[in-house]
Amino acid sequence: MTTELAEAVEALTKPSRTKVIRDDGSTIVVEHEPLLVQLETAVTSAIGNGGGGGTATGSVINDAALYQLLLIKTQIGDWCRLAGVRPDRQNTTVTLERWFAAQVNESTFHTRTLETWADTITELLDPPKTVPLAGPCPVCKQTNWVGLDGSLRASPVAVLYDQATLHASLRAVCRVVECSAEWSGADAVQELIEEMIEDDPEGEQ
Ligand SMILES: [Zn+2]
Repeated sequence: MTTELAEAVEALTKPSRTKVIRDDGSTIVVEHEPLLVQLETAVTSAIGNGGGGGTATGSVINDAALYQLLLIKTQIGDWCRLAGVRPDRQNTTVTLERWFAAQVNESTFHTRTLETWADTITELLDPPKTVPLAGPCPVCKQTNWVGLDGSLRASPVAVLYDQATLHASLRAVCRVVECSAEWSGADAVQELIEEMIEDDPEGEQ
């Protein structure tokens, strides 16, 4: 089994880590729950809340999360039937791992489908506003990054924030996968922008 399908499965079923560069320049690693677990948590907490206390935006996100979870469960269930694998009704992660264990051939279709789910869940649960910064990443020095559709794009570093908590959520990330550097907080982002402007005196876009 080659690694592309394995990576696509792991993107959904394993915890992920991001490097966070703090104001003092030190780096910490933050661990995030697996995407499938985050999706299930979003759906369960919406049901558990009985719809109370949620904003209109929140309930739209939760409806979309429920739809996406049902779609994933149904699709993986179909894949299991075709592969002769028994799905776990309670645990989508276990089902997906069981199905993957039964695969003997790399399948581009399955890999792309799983990658699309990972992107959709990420967008659903945390749809940040994105402001790209021109110039190379100060950490990895790359000037390009590969977008979700596989195309090569300029401006790997972008400032991100969530509308509801603009100041608290302000951060910058390098979108080069091998780098994934992150600057957390307004001070760190400010310093990053100053550093990038100094490195790019012509201010090209
Ligand atoms: Zn970088």
